[in-house]
Amino acid sequence: MSNKQGGPALPQERRLVTEIPGPKSRELLARKQAAVPPGIGTTLPVFVTQAGGGVVVDIDGNSLIDFGSGIAVTSVGNAAPRVVERVTKQVADFTHTCFMVTPYESYVEVCEKLNSLTPGDHEKRTFLVNSGAEAVENAVKVARLATGRQAVVVFDHGYHGRTLLTMTLTAKNMPYKQGFGPFAPEVYRVPLAYPFRWPTGPENCAEEAAAQAIDAITKQIGATNVAAVVIEPIAGEGGFIEPAKGFLPRIAEFCRENGIVFIADEVQTGFARTGRLFACEDEGVVPDIIATAKGIAGGLPLAAVTGRADLLDKVHAGGLGGTYGGNPLACEAALGVLETIESEDLVGKARRIGEIMLPRLKAMQERFDIIGDVRGRGAMIAIELVKPGTKEPNPEAVAEIVRRCHAEGLLVLTAGTYGNVLRFLPPLVMPQHLLEEGLGILEKALSA
Ligand SMILES: *Cc1c(COP(=O)(O)O)cnc(C)c1O
Repeated sequence: MSNKQGGPALPQERRLVTEIPGPKSRELLARKQAAVPPGIGTTLPVFVTQAGGGVVVDIDGNSLIDFGSGIAVTSVGNAAPRVVERVTKQVADFTHTCFMVTPYESYVEVCEKLNSLTPGDHEKRTFLVNSGAEAVENAVKVARLATGRQAVVVFDHGYHGRTLLTMTLTAKNMPYKQGFGPFAPEVYRVPLAYPFRWPTGPENCAEEAAAQAIDAITKQIGATNVAAVVIEPIAGEGGFIEPAKGFLPRIAEFCRENGIVFIADEVQTGFARTGRLFACEDEGVVPDIIATAKGIAGGLPLAAVTGRADLLDKVHAGGLGGTYGGNPLACEAALGVLETIESEDLVGKARRIGEIMLPRLKAMQERFDIIGDVRGRGAMIAIELVKPGTKEPNPEAVAEIVRRCHAEGLLVLTAGTYGNVLRFLPPLVMPQHLLEEGLGILEKALSA
């Protein structure tokens, strides 16, 4: 632990030298508890000093296998060389001018890249903001202005952020909404095609769910009142729910027929995570507007709204923006991320991670009857735990398995409307031996 360099230079090993969390982390946790409100939760209270490749190193010298990527953010790995290099140069040149005051090239370059990389060859525009929530909220603003309509349709199990509007768009009450109302008006929720829990079975799921959603829109809201439909191509916080095949294209088609702006929230699924640059590509869905963040800039705060030029160009001058949106350090980081995705073939690496994880997890499903479902694409994979022999959610088992994994130095995250999903989001640069080791720890935790 002599050098302070993080990134891929860190030894790619799991190493436990204290219990988890260790004494220094526990000391810091006590300080955190005195200084930070409990509303800011902590998944695993080890305090980090370095991270890179597939590991996170804590202040006690433990090196943990990272199956979380800071919630799908450090897909290129922490302190990725191209990100470090670009940000380091930029921080010495200038740190902020506000793009709306005096612009700079990197912002424009990020927008050009997103316009060409996102699905569809139509003319596009992009603008940059600071967070996923801000991107989704701005996408809705644009859709409302461009259509002159107000209603926004979202789905069961959706998660879109924590601002007033995006919290309203979010499905789950606890912990995201409880006590924080009143919520924003003109938000309507319709069914999502959730194959594992569809009452008549997964075969009928896409068709029936789409019919129910469309019926609610036409009969209860009125299609001509709807500005936008906002949907995650794979529901993230909701439990890595892949809508049954056919559902997304059907909803997108309905939007097109009715002049409704189809907004894909690819904040969690974007930037190679699912084995495609964007998850919508899997079914050839071309969104009118796409919101991105998380994996976009290696952890520097950046998010983007990319969409049809005819929609985005409708907004009057000065109607969009923000003080920090598209900060120059974050833009350089994003350019470093996009270079890394290409040069390291991270789309291919994400697929490879899925090819390793899915069969191992499916084999575990055969062995352990608490695994009700194994699902996901690329490096966005989850298992849903149930009470044996039923589909009843089993959040207690999730909590126990997470506890065991953390104690063994494997950082895993949970998700799901019912709190019964274990989700895996390794950095796409995760070395294979650590991926296998992590799966071994999980298997051991499941058998205990
Ligand atoms: C994380 C997330 C958001 C919110 O992003 P923040 O940067 O936390 O505001 C929105 N949508 C999805 C799908 C997300 O996963």
